[in-house]
Amino acid sequence: MSSDSSTATGNATSAPLPQGSSIAIVGAGITGLSAAYYLQQQRPDLNITLLESSDKPGGILQTVERNGFLVELGPDMFTTRDSEAFELCGELGIEDQLISTNRDHRGAYIICRGKLCKMPLGWTMMTPTRMGAILKTPLLSWKGKLRVFAELFIPRKKSGGDESLASFTRRRLGQEALERIIQPLISGIYTADPEKLSMQATLADFLAMERTGKGLIREGIKQQRSQSSQESSSGARYGAFVAPKYGMQSIIAALTNQLKTDTLKLGQRVKQLEFKNDAWQLTIEQDTLGTTTRQFDRLLLTTSSQITGRLLQDAYPELSKLIADIPLAGAAIVTMGYRFCDIDHPLDAFGVVVPQTENRPLIAISMASQKFAGRAPQDSVLFRIFAGGALQPEVLQWGEDQLIESAKQQLRELLGVNGKPIFTQVARWENKMPQYHVGHVELVDKIELELSKTPNLEIAGNAYRGVGIPLCIRNAKSAVKRLIG
Ligand SMILES: Cc1cc2nc3c(=O)[nH]c(=O)nc-3n(C[C@H](O)[C@H](O)[C@H](O)COP(=O)(O)OP(=O)(O)OC[C@H]3O[C@@H](n4cnc5c(N)ncnc54)[C@H](O)[C@@H]3O)c2cc1C
Repeated sequence: MSSDSSTATGNATSAPLPQGSSIAIVGAGITGLSAAYYLQQQRPDLNITLLESSDKPGGILQTVERNGFLVELGPDMFTTRDSEAFELCGELGIEDQLISTNRDHRGAYIICRGKLCKMPLGWTMMTPTRMGAILKTPLLSWKGKLRVFAELFIPRKKSGGDESLASFTRRRLGQEALERIIQPLISGIYTADPEKLSMQATLADFLAMERTGKGLIREGIKQQRSQSSQESSSGARYGAFVAPKYGMQSIIAALTNQLKTDTLKLGQRVKQLEFKNDAWQLTIEQDTLGTTTRQFDRLLLTTSSQITGRLLQDAYPELSKLIADIPLAGAAIVTMGYRFCDIDHPLDAFGVVVPQTENRPLIAISMASQKFAGRAPQDSVLFRIFAGGALQPEVLQWGEDQLIESAKQQLRELLGVNGKPIFTQVARWENKMPQYHVGHVELVDKIELELSKTPNLEIAGNAYRGVGIPLCIRNAKSAVKRLIG
């Protein structure tokens, strides 16, 4: 994932904000809430209004309790490698609630010709590091394995610049590694099309590994030597992921509690924006009260690229067009609880990822209760089945029953899950995953340049400099800094 740019141009024309000024933040997801929190911390004198269209704060972060299971409807963890979410939990006094992933069962399965195959030991993201494990894996043919080893001798690309995940992987590790390992592993995280996903915007560390001239395998081995053996054998950096014991909603509750009364306004959809007489006029649709107009000195938009683009259409058409050029994909998550006695598999992994070439209507299965303690009663397991994404958008159009039946069938075929689920829950997140296509970093640079010409306006969120929760918080912090001048 790319890091937030410290050179963000932001709003060069905004003067320092006078005492008691009014600020509107649109959208109370993790970005908007953390922006409101940091703004209030730094400038308690300001009148901050956080406008949220739905009836609860948190955006994609939502936790519910079902039959003794702790169910995340959206994200279920965050990385500590980018420190912002961890630090925020510390500031909110909930650091002691954070739990790490279980030490048992780390690792993932990949589906290969309809069967479960364990990720080769030592293969972390894009870096294979154990030659013996590559030789043994049934995931690759002999030709595919030799092509992976050939990475040791592939020179670095002469021209710099951005490249798609598919192009980079084909060059370095070969087509087979792309189809059978990298596509399901990486594009599952971004629900993305590997032919379009930008390396520079999402996986810049691996581009840097190539630039050293040593390549992925040699650099990967070097890096793994400095990590614990547990980490290096898991196939992903699981030790770096944490979650609040009582679910992601804890972060939202703690943030909301810190805000002054009257800051958060639920059920208020911003419909239109106008900048006149040095102030922002917001047309707001309220659930019960109809439409009102309110005026603010400064404005921060934390909505999706689609909504932000639409809101800015009249006031700043060029900026609006650039933002709306960031495409979105969606995903559905079917969550189900089962008893262990109904499952014919040891469930000795955190999950299963599914290559596109397998032609199955799912992206991945997360064994959520194997990953984090306290997610299911002792005799049961919690599954989350992810479907849709940029490669299977049609699945998102399915009705709830069809999504559930399909998820049940996949669990039965792949993991021998029989019997009836204890409960089912469907979350549908349409247009919630921004797609960082090749050229994304340049596009965001242009957006920031254009933004620097607009007075008293900032934007933040997952569309720009990273989709993960810590990077959304980082993005919010930078926007706040620029907003108050
Ligand atoms: C299925 C899924 C799983 C994920 N898993 C992980 C994970 O495990 N770990 C991780 O780090 N990241 C994960 N992510 C990414 C991460 O959750 C998101 O990038 C992040 O939560 C986005 O937060 P946000 O505040 O920018 O946007 P949102 O959460 O989308 O918040 C935007 C808010 O704006 C409101 N809004 C929209 N329009 C208006 C309007 N006109 N007026 C007022 N309010 C409006 C919306 O109702 C919403 O509450 C996941 C994402 C998805 C979709």
